Amino acid sequence: MLVVKFGGTSVGSAERIKALTNLVVNDTPKIVVLSAMSGTTNTLVEIANYLYNKNNEGALETILQLEKKYKQTIEELFSTVEYKQQAADLIESHFSYIRAFTKDQFTMFEERAILAQGELLSTALFNFYLHEIGVESVLLPALNFMRINEDEEPDAAFIKENITLELAQHKNCNLFITQGYICRNSFGEIDNLKRGGSDYTASLVGAAINASEIQIWTDIDGMHNNDPRIVDKTHPIAQLSFDEAAELAYFGAKILHPSSVLPAKISNIPVRLKNTMQPEAHGTLINTESSGTGIKAIAAKDNITAIKIKSGRMLLAYGFLRKVFEIFEAYKTPIDMITTSEVAVSVTIDDTKYLNEIIEELKKYGTVDVDTNLTIVCVVGDFIAESKGYALQIFDALQHIPIRMISYGGSLHNVSLLVNTADKKEALISLNNKLFK
Ligand code: ASP
Ligand code: MG
Repeated sequence: MLVVKFGGTSVGSAERIKALTNLVVNDTPKIVVLSAMSGTTNTLVEIANYLYNKNNEGALETILQLEKKYKQTIEELFSTVEYKQQAADLIESHFSYIRAFTKDQFTMFEERAILAQGELLSTALFNFYLHEIGVESVLLPALNFMRINEDEEPDAAFIKENITLELAQHKNCNLFITQGYICRNSFGEIDNLKRGGSDYTASLVGAAINASEIQIWTDIDGMHNNDPRIVDKTHPIAQLSFDEAAELAYFGAKILHPSSVLPAKISNIPVRLKNTMQPEAHGTLINTESSGTGIKAIAAKDNITAIKIKSGRMLLAYGFLRKVFEIFEAYKTPIDMITTSEVAVSVTIDDTKYLNEIIEELKKYGTVDVDTNLTIVCVVGDFIAESKGYALQIFDALQHIPIRMISYGGSLHNVSLLVNTADKKEALISLNNKLFK
């Protein structure tokens, strides 16, 4: 069985939803994971914000606009009176559910319930459409099997057990549709896998059913060797190892949600990135193999903050780093890069929600400096330990750019460099010219 995931633009209009059937309807058994129609989740976030701020008027107006968009979509999507009516009833029920929150008190729980409506709508509409054109399909409710635990980590055993039960009820069916992104938490409440989480759903579902392959369909022909928005003449990478793909996904190649590599890697299920607009293109295949050594790609991650803690007490001391890391842990703030000298340690973070609190606590251990507007430029590949010259090539390309931090040797797959965001474009272009001649 295949797991195929389509993002918001692939279901972004009646036309795109119709075109999707060309990719989905064939003899290969599959589970189709869908995102919400593009723009929907953002609008639902907006609605939730209005409700938080007790601006019911703003909420109602935005709900009305979104509902209009859906009404227009079903007008274009369905051709029979029967299905137009079914779809209209569906929309009516979801939007009256959302509207009801303008009358009730509003908490975190309600926000997540509102955010779930996008995927519930897109999957139900696609399923109705398949039925209207005579294709047999079954809607699998993700809320019955996708679950996260107290630490907000997916509960793999629960997912496996429950999706298997769901599938067993439809032995003769070849085509299943389910919602990306949404899940329940350990209290059984509606929750989600964070923004962009549909890829993660696909990977978790793939692992749970031991899929033959997980396909992530987007609007680009795979992961590129550099950021195509900044650098000319980038090309898709035909094959990457799980480790290389994880580094790239985390450090900026927006095409794949970074968490989605791990479940596939653990279960050794190949992940293929494909382009909806160009289905015949090879895309990128991610699996256990490495397609040889050397530099494969460059990615960049913006909005990075660097924090330097300098202390005489670090000299020859043990336990200093633990104390520093415990502060970040207490504020659930992940660290990306780290470099040390004998008297100082620098780390980078991208989540600055608790920055002030973290700085205050760090001050107990030394002087603290904070730099903002930084970018991590990450060079990814398979660098075997004996091979020489990678660092030279990279530094040669960046000789005219100030470098704030360097991280090399953490894994054999990544060299990370911290630069000012103002220098990012030049860094990417110069690396591209030197590394991919
Ligand atoms: N609809 C959700 C979002 O916009 C999940 C996803 O698209 O992957 O973040
Ligand atoms: Mg996405």
